[in-house]
Amino acid sequence: MGEFDVIAAFFTRPMSRAVLGVGDDCALLQPRPGMQLAVSSDMLVSGRHFFTDVDPAALGHKALAVNLSDLAACGAQPLAFTLSLSLPQIDPDWLRAFSQGLFALADAHQCELIGGDTTAGPLCISITILGEVAPGQALLRSGAQVGDDIYVSGTLGDARVALEALQGHRSLSAHQLALLRPRLERPTPRLALGQALCGIASAAIDLSDGLWGDLQHILRRSKVGATLHVPLLQPVLQQHGQAYTVALNGGDDYELAFTAGPQHRDIISTLALRTGTPVTRIGTIEAQPGLRLRDAAGQDVPPTFRSFDHFQ
Ligand code: ADP
Ligand code: MG
Repeated sequence: MGEFDVIAAFFTRPMSRAVLGVGDDCALLQPRPGMQLAVSSDMLVSGRHFFTDVDPAALGHKALAVNLSDLAACGAQPLAFTLSLSLPQIDPDWLRAFSQGLFALADAHQCELIGGDTTAGPLCISITILGEVAPGQALLRSGAQVGDDIYVSGTLGDARVALEALQGHRSLSAHQLALLRPRLERPTPRLALGQALCGIASAAIDLSDGLWGDLQHILRRSKVGATLHVPLLQPVLQQHGQAYTVALNGGDDYELAFTAGPQHRDIISTLALRTGTPVTRIGTIEAQPGLRLRDAAGQDVPPTFRSFDHFQ
């Protein structure tokens, strides 16, 4: 099997929305008049972002999920994506499982694979995703206002706990690992929630490097500060005895953090129910720069952690 057989066998399907898909020098899309395109790329490198022997179907899912999560954070609706693959060898069984995991998630969100690149090399998966959003509706990191509430979807730290268990740095029962492992290997991009928050949330970000660090991207871009409240954080800790420091610093959560004015509390509860996404209010945007953590007694808790950075 050669490069072109791989593309034909595993990555070519009939197009529904694209004008032209895999097989030419460019794919062609017909943008809907008046809509803005949202574009994002994410790369997964073997040994760095995933274990080399990870289930290929899960890897196909995750490679697309992390890109869909970026669209979710902008409130954009998925359209199409390209897939650039570097493969150490051609393993048809691996490629079949990988493409099945990838297309299952793509189909669930009507997001078409329209092209890519395939080369020999260390295993690496790079996806560029395209979505659409109405002009002025995209959720940005820069819109948080003093007095806004801070919210987070789902639970935090689950992927980190599973990772530590798989690395042998933490012991979990087989039952606990079975519960948490999908949170690491098959994250759920929060697209319905992100789209529902357009016009309501003032700022949003998806959590890939841990809430503590990622929230500070909103704070810097919005030129504000924030306090998180330990008692409010309780619902976002999963039930397996994990400390809030793991939840705040976890990474790989692919949940949404967002801000909204306090007048929107009721509608946000409604949207959470309607989209089937747990949402928890965890803190407040303030004028004082920086991010603070406050315990039930009103005391500041000094953070003893730092968010993930590939070069630190
Ligand atoms: P080019 O020579 O223009 O770079 P290629 O020969 O690399 O084109 O690719 C041939 C066609 O297959 C192109 O349409 C490209 O978008 C598509 N393609 C290559 N790799 C992939 C992949 N992994 N997934 C989907 N489409 C791919
Ligand atoms: Mg090429």
